[in-house]
Amino acid sequence: MSDIQFEEDFHKTIVDNLADGVYFVDPTRQIKYWNHGAERITGYSAEYVVGHHCFENILDHVDGEGNSLCHTVCPLAATIRDGQSREVSIWLRHADGFRKPVRVRTAPVRDHAGAIVGAVEVFSDDTAVLRAVTDADQARRDALTDELTGLPNRRLFDAALAGRLENMSRYGWRFGLLIVDIDHFKAVNDKFGHAFGDAALVGVGATLHGAVRTGDVVARWGGEEFAVLVESADDATLVDAAERLRTLVAKSEVRLAGLSHTIHVSVGGALAGPEDSAESLFARADAALYGAKHAGRNRSEIAQPV
Ligand code: GH3
Ligand code: MG
Ligand code: MG
Repeated sequence: MSDIQFEEDFHKTIVDNLADGVYFVDPTRQIKYWNHGAERITGYSAEYVVGHHCFENILDHVDGEGNSLCHTVCPLAATIRDGQSREVSIWLRHADGFRKPVRVRTAPVRDHAGAIVGAVEVFSDDTAVLRAVTDADQARRDALTDELTGLPNRRLFDAALAGRLENMSRYGWRFGLLIVDIDHFKAVNDKFGHAFGDAALVGVGATLHGAVRTGDVVARWGGEEFAVLVESADDATLVDAAERLRTLVAKSEVRLAGLSHTIHVSVGGALAGPEDSAESLFARADAALYGAKHAGRNRSEIAQPV
């Protein structure tokens, strides 16, 4: 084997096996290379992706407002244009349909003469960074985890909420509660079957889980309802968080056994105030949810401050 051949194989082996996702596009943004990390993070094989263009709606990168980046502010396109590296946090759509947060870095690739011949994108799974971590042992974890979605269950959520209320009265730390309820879920079960309904719950849970910040808690509250604690919230951040959750779900798809369907959610929220108990906070968020449902669903509504 020649030295050059050895070096190429050596580098390819390393890049193939990085934990990060790595892919390379030519100046037309056609994907030429897709490593094992990219396969693992996105659920799409190299065989499936290579040869497609990055804007062909495979990953459909969106920002936290749900805006699609592919045809407007694609960081790869910008890097090919101006030769500058970029770093952004976005959400890609996994092959199973749910939204996954990733940190994306782009860099230009040049030939020996310095001309840009493409760009490389390196992306890492941001879920572990954003998710609320529970560090209990497995048995404890099982008792506090919803079996279907793997999210915290109601018991863990109640304990977290009690802790937040205590911190608020002690240190004045404000927080918000959001209730997320799937729209017309009974009809989804009736039309597509219970297994599809279950897949929808798993998918919506995964999207919500990937849409919140460190310290926020997303739990399956029961049935087709999820509850979210939003840290350090004021009215504006709570409105933003509610809209981000709603939008990312609306930009997802549930996919199972050849069927695919877009689920929508309604969100009701309330900012915790000094006089609140868990019951009074839930009552306000529930009333706001009722308002969002009656206003037509696929909406969010935040209760007026007390
Ligand atoms: P709305 O938009 O007003 O919220 O309507 P909806 O149909 O979502 O609300 P409704 O409360 O009438 O129905 C909730 C449905 O959720 C009924 C129940 O069968 C379904 N559901 C609850 N838990 C599960 C579950 O674990 N798996 C599945 N597949 N369905 C579930
Ligand atoms: Mg409900
Ligand atoms: Mg519902």
